[in-house]
Amino acid sequence: MNKKTTSVDCPNCQRSVEWKDENNFRPFCSKRCKLIDFGGWANELNSIPGESAYPALADEYD
Ligand SMILES: [Zn+2]
Repeated sequence: MNKKTTSVDCPNCQRSVEWKDENNFRPFCSKRCKLIDFGGWANELNSIPGESAYPALADEYD
């Protein structure tokens, strides 16, 4: 039996990850990395300043 395994690099920590059905977190190596990555961009979206966050800049670019 020749079982082919595909490996990808975890987008978060660049560790080699086996691409298989058992790995629910692929392409991440672990739940932790997946959450970190998701949390990362979620936080970025949430931290986009509203109008009141940078009043000085808002005035300058108005
Ligand atoms: Zn990882």
